[in-house]
Amino acid sequence: MMDATYCYLCDQTVEVELKEEEEVHVIRGTSVHCEVDNAYCRHCGNQVYIPEINDRNLDMIDNAYRNQNSIMTKLEIEGLLKQYDIGAKPLAALLGWGEVTIIRYLKGQIPDRAHNETLKRLQDPEVFGTLFEKDQDKLTSTAKKKTAAALQALMSSHQPALNKFDSRVSSLLNVYSNQPDEFNGFTDFNLQKLIQTIVYFAVMENGIYKTKMNKLLWYADMLRYKRTGYTSLTGLSYKHNFHGPTPHYFSYLYGSLEDVDITLTDDGLGEYINPLVDFTPNVFSNEEKQVLDTVIATFRNWSAQRISEYSHHEKAYRENDHSDFISFSYARDLSLV
Ligand SMILES: [Zn+2]
Repeated sequence: MMDATYCYLCDQTVEVELKEEEEVHVIRGTSVHCEVDNAYCRHCGNQVYIPEINDRNLDMIDNAYRNQNSIMTKLEIEGLLKQYDIGAKPLAALLGWGEVTIIRYLKGQIPDRAHNETLKRLQDPEVFGTLFEKDQDKLTSTAKKKTAAALQALMSSHQPALNKFDSRVSSLLNVYSNQPDEFNGFTDFNLQKLIQTIVYFAVMENGIYKTKMNKLLWYADMLRYKRTGYTSLTGLSYKHNFHGPTPHYFSYLYGSLEDVDITLTDDGLGEYINPLVDFTPNVFSNEEKQVLDTVIATFRNWSAQRISEYSHHEKAYRENDHSDFISFSYARDLSLV
């Protein structure tokens, strides 16, 4: 994080102060509310321009616009490719789109309406499977094999607690299930525990902003790892983000649970989460439940901003850079015990 820059009013290099501010931007005729960080000169109070902060703000505004308009984000499009183990060019070929269309979307261009709708529908493996069956000869034999294998795995994966095939669950499993490593606390992704952790925090807070939920999830996973020394809770991995640690692909995550396990409501300040299903304590062991209770006892009724600022003091946050994955090896220095 840069903390000094040139101020043209002071005509010297000055220290800066970052302030979280709510901004409204008009994008393609729509008002977009977004929390951004602005930098100010500590000497004269003039707003100063720091390119890397400006870039992050633009990303956040872009994501807010997409969320408001149900447009897939870059990460969600990446998640789609990952889900079917297919490259951007092969998928464009399968769809009969221009070769670089999806590459442009991955670089940040906003998909046109029809393409966006198509990509969203393809998140459902049944829809993708139908397309693949019809047009797979447009792919090379290597690409065809990879995607066929990914589809097969998706279609055959089952979660014991679910009584019907659920494409939403398969997509999440495919996006999050990685080899256990230091970035997921050496823990297999556990969807049931993840959903129930989110539900528990949302119940205890009587509705909770996504930005705060992101931090509570991180604290719960880190604290479990700290206490056990070998395993986290949900198996999620987390990135160093502007306002604190956030689960990888968190927009995709909450979007996938929306209207099934949780509701998402935008009150103009941000999206908040309410539970749609009951909390099921028997998903957790006593020791796991105690982790959740410590986290909620510590942060209950804190504002998203307060917990964000608090998280910035954690060594795990200080010693990583923007968008780095945060290793669970930092758990031993976590402020919670
Ligand atoms: Zn100044």
